[in-house]
Amino acid sequence: MCELQLGKLTIQVVKKDIKNVYLSIYPPEGKVRVSAPNSMPLDNLRVFVVSKLPWIRKQQKKLQAQARELARGCVEHESHYFKGERYLLKIIEHKYPSKVVLDHSAITLYIRPGTSTEKKAAILNEWYRSELKQLIPMIIHKYEKLMDVSVKEFGVKKMKTKWRTCNPVAQRIWLNLELAKKPIELLEYVVVHEMVHLLERSHNRRFIMLMDTFMPKWKFYQDELNRLPISRVNWSK
Ligand SMILES: [Zn+2]
Repeated sequence: MCELQLGKLTIQVVKKDIKNVYLSIYPPEGKVRVSAPNSMPLDNLRVFVVSKLPWIRKQQKKLQAQARELARGCVEHESHYFKGERYLLKIIEHKYPSKVVLDHSAITLYIRPGTSTEKKAAILNEWYRSELKQLIPMIIHKYEKLMDVSVKEFGVKKMKTKWRTCNPVAQRIWLNLELAKKPIELLEYVVVHEMVHLLERSHNRRFIMLMDTFMPKWKFYQDELNRLPISRVNWSK
């Protein structure tokens, strides 16, 4: 077995005694595998795969969307992430108002008996939101002083495709709820990125210069963030 590298995409190549080329995409992340005739040169295979790139991307997106759906299950023993660390989800039924408790290994959801999956997910999301709402102001405060800007308002919401949005005129920043699950440096990077937009709206040279000034390691964080799916499911048990 060998591999074909197309930009960021790695394709597993399996040579077989077959006549046609077969392309398969596997869940959860959409790994790509191609089975090809023994006699087919790698260069021809590369041309073939390049011609199928739009199809591959479409299939990968579908799988990732499915993964996101599954992540909303809120099932006992599922892995959930907080600040980049993995926790086991525990669900305990009790007859008092719901609450979420974090310890070193678990996120425990205390709920009333008969609580629906949607409601469980909502309780957990609310907890993530409240955690973010404590973390974000500390980051904003730190950089407001450094950058000499002021953020009038920030909010947290669930976004499917973006980590953040920014309205420089209103000095308002929206952050994706999913950031609560990522390492805190990545949250910090996203906040700083949006705050730099208060000084420079577009991603031009000045923007990059400002990022370099306020957060020298920002490119590393940006790559990290791009590498991570917006939502992550853990398939291992
Ligand atoms: Zn931006």
